[in-house]
Amino acid sequence: MYKRIGILGGLTPESTVVYYLHIVRRYQELYGDHSYPEIVIYSVSFQRFIDWMEREDWRSIKGELLRGLRSLADAGADFAIIATNTMHILFDELSAESPIPLISIIDATAEAIMDEGLKTVGLLGTRFTMEHPFYREGLARYGIEVLVPPEEDRAYINRVIFEELSRGILRDESRREFLRIINDLVERGAEGVVLGCTEIPLLVNQGHTSVKLFDTARIHAEKALHYAVRG
Ligand code: GLU
Repeated sequence: MYKRIGILGGLTPESTVVYYLHIVRRYQELYGDHSYPEIVIYSVSFQRFIDWMEREDWRSIKGELLRGLRSLADAGADFAIIATNTMHILFDELSAESPIPLISIIDATAEAIMDEGLKTVGLLGTRFTMEHPFYREGLARYGIEVLVPPEEDRAYINRVIFEELSRGILRDESRREFLRIINDLVERGAEGVVLGCTEIPLLVNQGHTSVKLFDTARIHAEKALHYAVRG
């Protein structure tokens, strides 16, 4: 019997469904039948998190995420993934207090970057992910160096994530601009680019560029699948 996966989602719903389907589809691809692990999803109500993030009120966010993790544990989840990069700002604290083990999106992404043999990557994400040290430091533990876009581009990416991608709005103009930002990072020395917001792969994917992209949502979901199946 496989471990039951808990997904703390709704952060945002656009990517939570990607996690769910990716786990199921990858299992079917790898093992052929429909015996994929059981999955419990706890989808938060997102507005409060947006308000708390604006105020950098991480204490309130932590309390609410812990409530979600307890609900997942109560529903029988054996471990959990928090389906967003940004909230990994709290990963160490949440891991210490969560009733069930957590798998980090940053560790999963670092392993994928190491598998490709890359040492320097660009990072796109919310302004919190690009500007707070947690992501850079998390990848640095694996010897991976991170480049982020300049201030103006960071503000643009953040706006597109919250105003467009989190609502399922995918605009060609935004895609062109993201691809321009990715190319700028490559010109500065990035050997690949981390799509460090779980909604960005909805807009930009490997079919749009020859630059190696790391789709953090699918990488994280895949690691959860392997952990559920093989431990
Ligand atoms: N899902 C996004 C991420 O991966 C951003 C939304 C959020 O703030 O959780 O960072």
